[in-house]
Amino acid sequence: MPDGSGIMSEETNDGDVELEARLAEQEAFDPPESFVEQANVTDEGIYEEFEENWPECWERAADLLSWEEEYDAVLNDEDAPFYEWFTDGKLNASYNCLDRHVENGAKNRAAIKWEGEKGETRTYTYGDLLNEVEAFAASLRDLGVEEDDVVTLYLPMIPELPIAMLACARIGAPHSVVFAGFSADALATRMNAAESEYLVTCDGYYRRGDALNHKEKADKGLRSVEHDVTSVVVDRLGEELTHFLGNDARDYDDLVAEHEGASVDPVSRDAEDMLFLMYTSGTTGEPKGVKHTTGGYLAYTTWTSHAVLDLKPEDTYWCSADIGWITGHSYIVYGPLALGTTTVMYEGTPDYPERDRLWEIIEKNRVDVFYTAPTAIRAFMKWGSQYPEEHDLSSLRLLGTVGEPINPRAWKWYYKHIGGEACPIVDTWWQTETGGMMITTLPAINTMKPGSAGPPLPGVSANVVDAAGEEVEAGEAGYVTVDKPWPGMLRTLYNNDDRFIEEYWTEYSDEDADEWVYFPEDGAKIDDDGYITILGRVDDVINVSGHRLGTMEIESAIVGVSGVAEAAVVGGDHDVKGEAVYAYVILEDEQEPSEDMRDRIVAAVEDAIGPIARPEEVLFTPELPKTRSGKIMRRLLEDIASGNDLGDTSTLRNPEIVEEIAEGIETES
Ligand code: ATP
Ligand code: MG
Repeated sequence: MPDGSGIMSEETNDGDVELEARLAEQEAFDPPESFVEQANVTDEGIYEEFEENWPECWERAADLLSWEEEYDAVLNDEDAPFYEWFTDGKLNASYNCLDRHVENGAKNRAAIKWEGEKGETRTYTYGDLLNEVEAFAASLRDLGVEEDDVVTLYLPMIPELPIAMLACARIGAPHSVVFAGFSADALATRMNAAESEYLVTCDGYYRRGDALNHKEKADKGLRSVEHDVTSVVVDRLGEELTHFLGNDARDYDDLVAEHEGASVDPVSRDAEDMLFLMYTSGTTGEPKGVKHTTGGYLAYTTWTSHAVLDLKPEDTYWCSADIGWITGHSYIVYGPLALGTTTVMYEGTPDYPERDRLWEIIEKNRVDVFYTAPTAIRAFMKWGSQYPEEHDLSSLRLLGTVGEPINPRAWKWYYKHIGGEACPIVDTWWQTETGGMMITTLPAINTMKPGSAGPPLPGVSANVVDAAGEEVEAGEAGYVTVDKPWPGMLRTLYNNDDRFIEEYWTEYSDEDADEWVYFPEDGAKIDDDGYITILGRVDDVINVSGHRLGTMEIESAIVGVSGVAEAAVVGGDHDVKGEAVYAYVILEDEQEPSEDMRDRIVAAVEDAIGPIARPEEVLFTPELPKTRSGKIMRRLLEDIASGNDLGDTSTLRNPEIVEEIAEGIETES
C-alpha cells in the first residue's frame, strides 16, 4: 500500500483492512436506500423547479413558517444590493419556534435537551420553553427593553442562552450574542459598536471540570463600555462561585420567578426587521456586525434544516457548535426549533471527562442527526476509533460538517466510524453572512464526493469564476461568487452600509449595469458535475516564485499521510522565492515525529501538487493556534514563519501554544 492511503494502517483485522482499502480508493458514495426512503426532499427535479421559478421558488421556504400577515412580494430588488425578502409580511420568530408547536399539540415534546459538562441534564419541553421565554420576555420589558433595542447576550452553552434569544425575538429586540470564550475587550468592542444598553451574562461555567469566573470578565468588559448598561446575571455555578451582582445587575432567577406565568404576546415584526446582529469570527481581520432579518433568515434556516439536515419533528438532533457562532444560531436554535425538532445542547468540551463524551451523548439521547466541524473530526481521528466503538451510534441517520473544508481522509473516517457507512454526510459551505447553508449535496439526492461540498443548493446561484469574473473550466481554481440574492443573506453590516458594499459587492459587481454579485472571498474549484470544492479563503493563497498555491490543497495532501492528524500550511517570507511553504503538522497520538515522517509528508505534497509546493519546513507541533470557533489562525502561523512580531493573541482558544511553536522553530533553525 503506498503512503497517503491513510486510515488503512490503523487496523489489524483482515476484513477491516480490505474495507479500509476500498474506502481509501472510493471517490463517490451514494446515499443509502434506507435514508432515501424516509427523506424530506427526494425529487431531483427540485433543482430545475427552483431555477425556473426563481425567485418565487423561495415561497417553499416561507411556507414552512406561520405568517401573521402574508407578504406582498417574494423579492424586492429595487435598491440592490440592499435586497428585501417577503416584503410587508409579518411574523414573529419566537411564535414560530414555540407557540405554534404548543398550539399543534407538541406541548410535551422535548424542545431542548441540555447536557451539562459535569453530567447534569435539563430537558425543556416546548411548553416549558414557551413559559420561561415569556417570563424572561416580560422581565426584559420591565427592565426597559423596547422593540429594536439591541440586547447583548454574553453567555456560554446553557439553556438560558436560547431562552434569552427567543425572549428578545418575542419582544422584537434584536440580540447580539458574544461568544463566552471571547475576552472582556471583545465584549466591550461589540457592545460599543452596537450601542447595546442591555447585557445578559452569568456568574461562570465549567470547562474541563473547572468553574470559570465569567462575571469578572463581563465586569471588566463593561468598564470599557461608553454608555450605561443594565445587566442580568444567570446563576450557573450556585455555591461553587458565589456570584456577586454589580450595582444594578439583576438576578435572572429572581426575574423569571417574579414574572412566572406572564403572558407576552409575540410582537408582530416586519419580515425585514432585524432579528439579530452577529459579529463574524474575525479570522481574517476586524469583526463585522452582520445584520439578519426576521422573515428571510428564519425562512432560509428552516428550509435548509428541512432539506439538508432532513429534520423532522420527531427527531433528536445535535449540532455540537457553540451558539455564540452563527452555526449555533441557525442550526441549534432557529432552524430546528422552527421545525419542532428536539435539539441537544452540550455545555462542555468533547474530551471531558473522557474522549468518548460526544458518543456517549449520542447514544444516551438516541441522536438521529449530528452536525459538527472538520476540526473536531480530525481531533476524534487523532484520538482513535476505540472511543466511538465503545458506544451504540446506530440511532444516527445523517451526519454533517461545517466551518472548513473536510479532507477526504477525515470524511471517510467520519463516514465509517461515526456513521457506520449507513449515513449520508452533508459537507455544508456557508458563512455568517449567508445566514444558512449555500453549497452542499441534498442528502437523499446527490452522490457524495469526499472533500467536495457539492453543488449549490436549489435556488442558490453560486459559481466559480476567474479574476475577470468568467466561469472557470472544470478543474481550475477560481473564486466563489453568488450572482443572485437569497433569503438568508445579510442585509448590511450594522451601521455601516459602505463597508457592506465594499466588503462583498465591489469585486465582481457592475454597478452601472445594476448587476450585483456577492463575493464571499473563498477560493474554489468546480468539476464536470458542477461540484464545488472549497480551497479556502482568498487570503490563504501562497505565492511561491510566481506560482499561486492554495493552502487547503497542500494541507489535504499532508493529512492524507498515515499518522498525520492535522496540518496547517502558510506562506512565510523567503529571500529567493518571495514566499515559501511552511507546514505545521500534528501527528496522531501514538506517532512520533521522525525524518521518515517528514520525508513522507514532503513526498505526498510533491505527488499531489508538484515540487513547487514542496514545504520549506515541516514543523511538528502538539497543537495549532485556533480561534474560539475552532478555526486555525493562519495569520499567526505566517507571522511565526516570517519571524514577525506576534501581536495580540487573546482571542485564541489556546494562546499559550503560540509561544511553544515559535520556540520550536527557533530551536530547529
Ligand atoms: P471573518 O469573516 O470574520 O474573517 P470567518 O470567515 O472565519 O471570520 P465564518 O463566517 O464563521 O467566519 O466562517 C465562514 C468561512 O468558513 C467561509 O468563508 C469558509 O472559508 C469557511 N467554511 C465554512 N464552511 C465550509 C465548508 N463546508 N467547506 C469549506 N470551507 C468552509
Ligand atoms: Mg468570513
